[in-house]
Parts: sequence; C-alpha cells; structure tokens
Amino acid sequence: MKPSDKALVPFVSVDNMMRLVHHIGVEQVILQIAAQIEADFKRWESFDKTPRIPAHSPHGVIELMPTSDGESYGFKYVNGHPKNTSEGLQTVTAFGLLADVYTGYPTLLTEMTLLTALRTAATSALVGSYLAPKSARVMAMIGNGAQSEFQCLAFKAMCGIDTVRLYDTDAKATAKCAANLQNKGLNVIACPSPQDAIEGAQIITTCTADKKYATILTDNMVGPGVHINAIGGDCPGKTELHRDILLRSDIFVEYPDQTRIEGEIQALEPDHPVTEIWQVMTGQASGRRDEKQITLFDSVGFAIEDFSALRYIKNAIEGTDFFEPLDMLADPDDPRDLYGMLMRAS
Ligand code: NAD
Repeated sequence: MKPSDKALVPFVSVDNMMRLVHHIGVEQVILQIAAQIEADFKRWESFDKTPRIPAHSPHGVIELMPTSDGESYGFKYVNGHPKNTSEGLQTVTAFGLLADVYTGYPTLLTEMTLLTALRTAATSALVGSYLAPKSARVMAMIGNGAQSEFQCLAFKAMCGIDTVRLYDTDAKATAKCAANLQNKGLNVIACPSPQDAIEGAQIITTCTADKKYATILTDNMVGPGVHINAIGGDCPGKTELHRDILLRSDIFVEYPDQTRIEGEIQALEPDHPVTEIWQVMTGQASGRRDEKQITLFDSVGFAIEDFSALRYIKNAIEGTDFFEPLDMLADPDDPRDLYGMLMRAS
C-alpha cells in the first residue's frame, strides 16, 4: 500500500541543497537566511530555549539542538570532530528536522552540513552589521577550513568587506580558500602569520578547530576599535582567545546559558557581564558605542539559528523539485490499525 501524501516528508539531500543554493546564489541565500534569523531573534521570547545537549568523547562531540516557537519544532544533529580532517572527513556534519507542533508530524528533513555553514555565516555577518565599525573594509580570516569562504562572502554581502586577509596553520587550507574566493569580488591576501593577517583589519574572524584551549589571538595583537567574530571556540575546553582580550572587550552572545558552558567566556567568572545579541537587534541594548570599543561576538551557534534556516529551506523548496518525498512515517488509513497495515504489506 502506498503511504498517504500527508505522511510523506520532504527530504533535501546534499545534492538538492547544492542545486537549490546554485539556483538562488550563495550570497543571496546567506542574505535571506540572515533576514529570517533577524526576524526570529526579534521575537526571542516566543521560543523554548535550552543549551544544546552534548555527548562528549575523546574523539569529538555529538550534539542535539532543539527549539520550538509553539507552532513549529526543530532540531539539528551536529558533530564536531577536529581530528576528522586528517582522516579525509569533515570536522562538522549535520542534518535537521522541522515538525508541526499541532500533529507532531515532521514537515522537513534536510542535510545541514552546508546549511550550517550558510547559517553560521549569516549569523556572523548579521551580528557584524550591528557591531562592526561601519567603515570596516578589511577582515582577517584565521582558520581557512570548511566555514571560511562562507564567512568571507557573508561579510562582503552584509558588511561591505572588500579585502580578506587569510591565515591558517596549514598553508594548503589557505591556498584552497584563496582559490575558492577568486573572482568573487574580494581582494584576497594570503598571510604567513596571524599577526600579519590582522594587520589593518577592522574585523577579525577566528574559525579554527582544535579540541583544546588554544590562543589564536593574544592581547597585544588586538588594537582598539576592532570587531572580533570568534566562532571556532564552541565547546567546553575549546577556546581561541587570550583571556585578557575578553577583559578589554564588550562581549555579545547568543544564549548566555549555552555560551557560558561552551564559549570564550568559559574563561571568565560566571557572572561576567555579557549582552544578548537579540536585545541589540530589538533596540533594548546598545551595540557599538564608539570607534575605540572592542566588540566581541562570542559565537557558539544556537538552535534558533538552525530553526530559522530550516524554515527558510522549507519555504524555499515549495513549488520546486529540490527535494524528494520521504516515506519515513507509518501512517495507516485507520490510525489504530498499525499492525493491520504491516500484515497487508506481506
Ligand atoms: P575545519 O576543520 O574545516 O577548519 C578548521 C581550520 O582551522 C583548519 O584548516 C585548521 O588547519 C585551522 N587551524 C587549526 N588550528 C589553527 C590555529 N592555531 N591557527 C590557525 N588555523 C588553525 O573546521 P570548520 O568546519 O571550518 O569549523 C571551524 C570551527 O568552527 C570548529 O571548531 C567548529 O566547531 C566551529 N563552528 C562554529 C559554529 C558556530 O556557530 N559558532 C558553526 C560551525 C562551526
């Protein structure tokens, strides 16, 4: 027996996600996801919120990131395994699901490895549009792995960056990033050291992966007035910035309960003041106040960003063939005759 249409769940494979993104355009997708994230952050109080649920191992971490706005429910499954690239695997992979709160039935299942890179870039640049100096044209991009090109393009599209200065401990990663950013409207400069990369940069993005307390930036490297977009430190025991930088910065976070566990601020006292970025977006808190201030977005990635991205994809695939209907829900005509449905299939 064929399952009824209402039980078929649209599934966006990696292949279809790539077709969809090419159809719309990478920067356009980032802009549109950023608009969805901003709209959802502005209604922050309507969401169920909880720090994500991690399963740590010596090899990496596997996490679930759920949230709901009372009408839709979403979660992302995501891993973080910095050792993976040395085995030819991704550090971060993900998939996610959206469901209807009224019936509990899933309404979308999708790959989220690409979508995570797009939504992380959208979030970074959206926050940058509130906090970075308006005159910023140069960004240092430290860590030139899977997320890096998405970050550079997002800051170009949303914050007016025209130059990126790249640095990675692995020169092959920098060469890959520089090659991918050719002819994308950015002046791309490969740098031999982090000090060199941040020279003249008004925005510094750190996006490195290592499951340890690393010091990618030391205090003397960071001058007044810069915006730091720190996205690589996103796990207990995994940070990128020297503590003294944090003490000189005004720190902005997604969801403090999660960031205090996972973010750069795990190095600070538990009551160190931070500003929730949604409050800057709604005008309840101030963002950048002056040109000397160091602003720091201590990003760890929060479930509402994935919820926004999932809803964006659900709308974007409507009326297209960028998905397959997935037979993943048993849905007998008589809802109580699950066994009968099984027997009739023999
Ligand atoms: P990746 O493994 O593809 O790239 C990481 C790069 O960092 C590699 O090229 C590596 O050589 C480089 N690196 C490591 N140590 C370095 C150092 N000391 N200096 C300069 N470069 C260094 O990983 P990715 O997918 O690009 O993710 C990067 C990090 O971002 C991960 O830690 C991941 O967990 C995190 N992340 C955060 C968010 C968020 O929302 N905040 C989202 C996605 C990923």
